[in-house]
Amino acid sequence: MTGGSPLSGARRFELPRELAGRCMEAMKARGSEGAELFLALSATVSEDGRTVSFRHVHIPEQVCYSGPDGLLVKIDGDAIFELNHSCFERDEILAGQIHAHPSDAYHSPADDELALIKLPGGLSIVVPHFASGPLHPRRWSVNQLGPDGVWRRRRWRVRLAIT
Ligand SMILES: [Zn+2]
Repeated sequence: MTGGSPLSGARRFELPRELAGRCMEAMKARGSEGAELFLALSATVSEDGRTVSFRHVHIPEQVCYSGPDGLLVKIDGDAIFELNHSCFERDEILAGQIHAHPSDAYHSPADDELALIKLPGGLSIVVPHFASGPLHPRRWSVNQLGPDGVWRRRRWRVRLAIT
């Protein structure tokens, strides 16, 4: 394994369909109230470090504000501590986050800045249109945090598999 992150050797991320479906339902429900919802995904990593399997979805306590630049979700330090603690207890790592936008899916400057994921190699998925409609990962924006701390968009086919 290279670098300090347990995700630095990851080549494939597996998201169970059932887990993805639950995320979609939760984001759609919050979206119907006009608000965004952030969910965190914890995972285990295969022994060779190449495959990351998402296991649980967490919904940290959060507040969604409507500002001049659109919607903004804030998650305070206590909620982030809770989240890390519950991952630690399960012996899983915080490897992904997912949220839905009212319209287009892209990683906004606020998403870069306020990301829950701090581990290089972690994923941030943005789903368009408040996750309405069927599960359609090709329409998602899948972004990965680089070792340099910069979020970059990835083609979902390459790295993310719905299992
Ligand atoms: Zn966003």
